[in-house]
Amino acid sequence: MQTKILIVDDERDVELLFRLQFRREIKEKHIYLQFAFSGEDALNYLHNINPMDVLLILSDINMPGMNGLQLVEKVKAEFPAMRIIMVSAYGDDKNYNEAKAKGVDDFVTKPVNFVELKRKMSRVIAI
Ligand SMILES: [Mg+2]
Repeated sequence: MQTKILIVDDERDVELLFRLQFRREIKEKHIYLQFAFSGEDALNYLHNINPMDVLLILSDINMPGMNGLQLVEKVKAEFPAMRIIMVSAYGDDKNYNEAKAKGVDDFVTKPVNFVELKRKMSRVIAI
């Protein structure tokens, strides 16, 4: 089964980076990556599809408009089963603890170590 993952980041370069790093998994149709470039876009996307199609959200924290922690709050309120990993340059204890308290499954810091991210992803969802 193809796992749909929603990646939320205001930096558009992230799309190319993730598509390169996950090219094998994408080619083999193990995963499908959807990108949103703001928290608002991410919520719109979830409202316009069957949200249960998305198993995992990878979200930046520092974004203009709705930040990643605000997005987590809204997603968890509407879709409590959604798994979430924060991907942020702001790997300080305050953000980490706040993200954990909001029900985030895990946390990785930028620049992303994709071996570590994939390990954490496979722990959170079966891929
Ligand atoms: Mg950002």
